[in-house]
Amino acid sequence: MTPALLALAVAALFGAIIGSFLNVVIYRVPLGQSIVSPPSRCRKCGYQLKWYDNIPILSWLLLGGRCRQCKTGVSIQYPIVELITAILFVLVVWLTPPGPLVFARLLLVCILIVLFGIDLEHQILPNAITLPGIVVGLLFSLIAPPGWKDALIGTLLGGGILYAIAAGYYLWRREEGMGMGDVKMLAMIGAFLGWKAVIVTLVLASISGSIIGVLLMAAQKGDMKFALPFGTFLALGAVAAMFVGDPLVAWYAQFLP
Ligand SMILES: [Zn+2]
Repeated sequence: MTPALLALAVAALFGAIIGSFLNVVIYRVPLGQSIVSPPSRCRKCGYQLKWYDNIPILSWLLLGGRCRQCKTGVSIQYPIVELITAILFVLVVWLTPPGPLVFARLLLVCILIVLFGIDLEHQILPNAITLPGIVVGLLFSLIAPPGWKDALIGTLLGGGILYAIAAGYYLWRREEGMGMGDVKMLAMIGAFLGWKAVIVTLVLASISGSIIGVLLMAAQKGDMKFALPFGTFLALGAVAAMFVGDPLVAWYAQFLP
């Protein structure tokens, strides 16, 4: 096995283990519970998971997606989050030049997965995650790309655009269309990835959000009133911006006069 292949294998293994922890964060943070203790239990019968029930992806498959004791179904969200974390860790290690940027991106991937999961289920983006995220993103920019100036502009631009949209919508409709959580989340994405990635993220999130929104509307046959969690689309857009943002910007720039 070559060193490069070994690094990717380690990334996959490490990603799956971290993904298992992210499941705990997604479940417990919105409930205000500690993410370190107590150990994981079955929500139905209270069976305390042993180490061999906690092996990422494999335990879920071997147990057929059921609790070992009471056989209650365990959500497929668990192995999916573990698998996606493993895949994204492999992509980060594969596609990122060696250096502190690798760790910044691994951390951002974790934060985005957690925000995606929590926003999808609860329609909230907790300050306890987005605000420290902004600080850590800016700190990383002191030692890694995109550099502190780009990151600072990204933070202000990301927060500023969505704040302006939220304020404008409120003045127009007198109701809240976009939450402040989205504002802080895009500011955090700007802190990690810089201002160009903010624009790429916003464009991709808006396009994917619109497509899914139209499909959902068609499926619901005319019921226009439902909330799409924009944070989930921001998370998808940011992951895409991280990996293909630069080529996308270069491709688009060739059409500019
Ligand atoms: Zn059980």
